[in-house]
Amino acid sequence: SKSLRLVLGDQLSLTLPILQNAPPGATIALCEVEEEGRYVPHHPQKIAMMLAAMRHFAADLRQRGYRVHYSTLDDPDNRHSLIAEAERLARRHGCDEIHVTRPGEWRLLKAMEARQAQLHPPRWHIVEDTRFFCSHRDFEAWMEGRKRPRMEDFYRLLRRRTGLLMDGNAPIGGQWNFDRDNRAPIDDAPPPPSLPRHRQDAVTREVLALVERRFADHVGRLEGFNWPVTRRQALADLRHFVAQALPAFGTYQDAISDTAPYLFHSRLSAALNIGLLSPGEVCEAAQDAWQRGEAPLNAVEGFIRQILGWREYVRGIYWHRMPAYKRENQLGATRGLPQCYWDGDTDLRCLQRAIEMTHDNAYAHHIQRLMVTGNFALLCDVRPAALCDWYLAVYADACEWVELPNTLGMVLHADGGYLGSKPYCASGKYIDRMSDHCAQCRYDPRQSVGENACPFNALYWRFLERHADQLADNPRMRVIYGTLDKMSAHKRQALRQQADTFLDSLTWTPPYGQGQHA
Ligand code: FAD
Ligand code: SF4
Repeated sequence: SKSLRLVLGDQLSLTLPILQNAPPGATIALCEVEEEGRYVPHHPQKIAMMLAAMRHFAADLRQRGYRVHYSTLDDPDNRHSLIAEAERLARRHGCDEIHVTRPGEWRLLKAMEARQAQLHPPRWHIVEDTRFFCSHRDFEAWMEGRKRPRMEDFYRLLRRRTGLLMDGNAPIGGQWNFDRDNRAPIDDAPPPPSLPRHRQDAVTREVLALVERRFADHVGRLEGFNWPVTRRQALADLRHFVAQALPAFGTYQDAISDTAPYLFHSRLSAALNIGLLSPGEVCEAAQDAWQRGEAPLNAVEGFIRQILGWREYVRGIYWHRMPAYKRENQLGATRGLPQCYWDGDTDLRCLQRAIEMTHDNAYAHHIQRLMVTGNFALLCDVRPAALCDWYLAVYADACEWVELPNTLGMVLHADGGYLGSKPYCASGKYIDRMSDHCAQCRYDPRQSVGENACPFNALYWRFLERHADQLADNPRMRVIYGTLDKMSAHKRQALRQQADTFLDSLTWTPPYGQGQHA
């Protein structure tokens, strides 16, 4: 039998078993299809990064002697759906089998499994994705019998298993976690480094022109595109991060800046998610920096925890809980998304800057996503589907397996606390402490009612009041509910009214697929 080896846009790794084991002469297929580019209105930079990386990867494979078929968006025969296009190519190249690495999205996996059931060729073979620390089987084994899985337990298991930052069976430094050292506000931060500028060759320039032509209706700026699109560029980003930003990564991990989009974050998520870098090599590069004495332990542990811990953990939860997970809405949120997420038109400075940076760069760091755009949506009762569509569309690193648990679970608490033990709701005081936004805002974070009151404050109390049934007994929320209980009825009434008036002043958009973005 003859096989077509299908490589998806987020599987650009030479280490894939379907490539490593490809018999000589096997056809490798990469397909650009409309369906994947449009099911949410992806940021033009995200589409350009993906297409440019795919085209470079195909060229690299050819140079290594593989036979490659590459379907472009402009190809007149293109069927514009992954499954249909792969089957077309299989027939065209006389292949009776299609080998593909397990996709990262439930929707696609199910579509492929449905094709496996068909009796006639081409027969689909789905091969495990080996690019993670933890396989699905291992994660399921770990989950067995656990009612409330916790990231921290999973992380410690993986530390032991990989030996990363371990001294025998004990964590280096005597602690698993140095978060207490990792909460410095922006005020103390030194100037952050700027990113390396990647050269754009003819392939990248052609993709940029194509995206400009075909996806002009999608929100987000293409200008200023500077994503890595080859492994070499991704490695340059990794080296740059380790040398320039990692030493301060831990200390300012939770800070937010009005001007610096990346601060001391790595901006490696997109390269990791499409396969230009492996999580193992990234963690090892950080550990090596610590061993050489070039980065402190609180930074290196904090960074490794994000990749070895959070990234692997949310992936496990995604596959464990799908498809029901996507429909969860345990706080009963009912609204669409505020219009400003799409057009940036808001006078809340922190929100406006987070959205603007997102539109400019297809990037916002974790604390902006969690504590600004996420927190705001949580406090406004935005429906999980509406918020998930936005996060999936606007970030270059957005893939459903990592986006959904973070948005629905961590941010919106829509899974009832399965992923995070308490909601990350916060008032304007928190944002004021961690950022330098408030000094430039028309609102005052110290006021809760009145014309100049920071909207986050009244929304915060309204949120706590509305969800007391589900949250007041949470041990981690007791102190704050104690404060709410002590508040006079008069003050509570004033806060409620302040919040409702503010919510009435916003414009709401329906989720994608049901309204104007369809
Ligand atoms: P750094 O701060 O430098 O962290 C290093 C790496 O750790 C990241 O590159 C990433 O691979 C990993 N990481 C960090 N935090 C998380 C996390 N919570 N979950 C999983 N991995 C993590 N990340 C995505 O890769 N894709 C997404 O679609 C995505 N959607 C998100 C949506 C929301 C609402 C939130 C709150 C977070 C989301 N994240 C997502 C996680 C995180 O915000 C991004 O990975 C991070 O901001 C990427 O920037 P960085 O590479 O500079 O990260
Ligand atoms: Fe954001 Fe409130 Fe600060 Fe304005 S005052 S920047 S709305 S937290």
